[in-house]
Amino acid sequence: MLDNALKLIRELTEHNYKAYIVGGFVRDYLLGRESQDIDVATNATPKEIKEVFKDGFLPTEDYGSVIVNKYGIRFEITTFRKEFSYQDHRKPVEIQYIDDLYQDLLRRDFTINAICIDENGEIIDFLGGRDDLERKLIRTVGDADERFEQDALRILRAIRFATVLDFQLDGEVVEAIRKHRSLLKELSYHRKKEELDKIFVSGRAEQGIDMLLDFRLDKCLDLDNLSKVENTNSLIGIWSVLHVEDKYPFSSNEKELMKDIREVMVLNNYDPMALYHYGLYVNSVAGELKGLDKKKITECYNSLSIHRRQDLDLSSEEIMDSLHKTPGEYLSDIYEAIEKEVLYHRLPNEKDKLLAYIQENFASNS
Ligand code: ATP
Ligand code: MG
Repeated sequence: MLDNALKLIRELTEHNYKAYIVGGFVRDYLLGRESQDIDVATNATPKEIKEVFKDGFLPTEDYGSVIVNKYGIRFEITTFRKEFSYQDHRKPVEIQYIDDLYQDLLRRDFTINAICIDENGEIIDFLGGRDDLERKLIRTVGDADERFEQDALRILRAIRFATVLDFQLDGEVVEAIRKHRSLLKELSYHRKKEELDKIFVSGRAEQGIDMLLDFRLDKCLDLDNLSKVENTNSLIGIWSVLHVEDKYPFSSNEKELMKDIREVMVLNNYDPMALYHYGLYVNSVAGELKGLDKKKITECYNSLSIHRRQDLDLSSEEIMDSLHKTPGEYLSDIYEAIEKEVLYHRLPNEKDKLLAYIQENFASNS
């Protein structure tokens, strides 16, 4: 990945622009961790970046960043900038493109995120980021108090990096979080969710949640159920317990899934009816949240006599024929009844037995 990143920045330097790899990739590279994407800082303006990469860039609404997909890697190329007038403790409302790397590094959040690699693969570390990597320390670039007041998302980012990397927060950072935590209320739920998702999927979600609770950020983030999250293996499971779909953004599929997970939480997840109606995935997530045996849930699911309505040895036409009736609501009542009988092994899934059951229980109602 580094070789490809160097190739990409050389395309910019060959056009006489300055260009450096920066941010998460450099941090993770020095820690021997994998990165998803690569951030690049350059003095080329977005228009100039697009000229260098011609058709390679993606259309974005993002202010001043150009996304280039190359070598199967997503590059986020951002023009050196100075940021002004932070409004409501969030993103700056005004930026100015500049020519100077050092000035650009000063606007970055933490020292470990302000290390660069130049086109020769040399590391540039003006702000002591490597020392902090070695000391496993999250330290702000500049005064923590001021930096968190400018953009309160940095509070959550500090906790995210401490969680994911298993780092300590610098004393000043701890103080500044305590002082400014209520500013989190002013951030968009979209931005907060991005950081929270990264904490929750990190494999160290439990430590992250403990940290959020220790700083009493749960109330500032409207996560009233945070202390109720006990098992942290599934991201959607955690959000189901948090139950904040009215505030945080989720797709309609995710909302449906979380509703189902909460519904099966109160059911027995080894029970054939729960497994049949909600499926293996939802029951496994709920089972996991409750500390049940996941293998046993899978076994119970696999041994269900039917997994869907089509598995019944009986069609709607056959039910209608046997009752001499036309289609109607009554069909779903009959289906539900026979599904239950078959799932609890009170009736074999055999056409003649099912038809006999229908005759016995439903024919008189006609
Ligand atoms: P990830 O591994 O999640 O990509 P990252 O550190 O690269 O982590 P990004 O959100 O990709 O995080 O941001 C890229 C870089 O931009 C950061 O490393 C940091 O230098 C800077 N940055 C991002 N968000 C902020 C912020 N809110 N305030 C200051 N600098 C920021
Ligand atoms: Mg990044």
